[in-house]
Amino acid sequence: MAKYRHILLAVDFTPEVGIITSKGRELAERSGSKISLIHVLEFSSSNYPRDLPISSIHDLDDHLKKHAEVELRELAITHGFQNSRQYVEFGVPKQEIVRVAEEVAADLIVLGSHGRHGIQRLLGSTANGVLHLAKCDVLAVRISRD
Ligand code: AMP
Repeated sequence: MAKYRHILLAVDFTPEVGIITSKGRELAERSGSKISLIHVLEFSSSNYPRDLPISSIHDLDDHLKKHAEVELRELAITHGFQNSRQYVEFGVPKQEIVRVAEEVAADLIVLGSHGRHGIQRLLGSTANGVLHLAKCDVLAVRISRD
């Protein structure tokens, strides 16, 4: 198996997040790699009409980001990644995950895949998007909601 130096775990705070963190821990222990976590907020003030009061919208962005940073920090501690770096970004998850992976020179991205079929597959999932965009290896961990 390839030895990875820096693994980026993409987490979305769903109940299945433990499947991704366990896989990340297993791989990191085997390779002695560094771990970072990313969560992408899909809401941003830039999605809102310009005639809304700008200052309060920026406050809302700030509030959402700070809240997500606390949540991600708690998740990191709960799942044994006290020493990890954590990234909270605004945007489209697949794009931000790939952008940050490049920025921090991650050589493996670990995320969940629901193995969707039919229309959902046509619409594309985050896992599909990251697989197509990433320049590094991507591990899509199968998550079952059955
Ligand atoms: P989905 O395509 O929404 O079913 O998500 C598949 C996987 O992509 C999840 O299990 C996460 O690992 C990752 N993911 C989805 N949304 C986000 C997000 N907003 N931030 C970080 N990772 C995400």
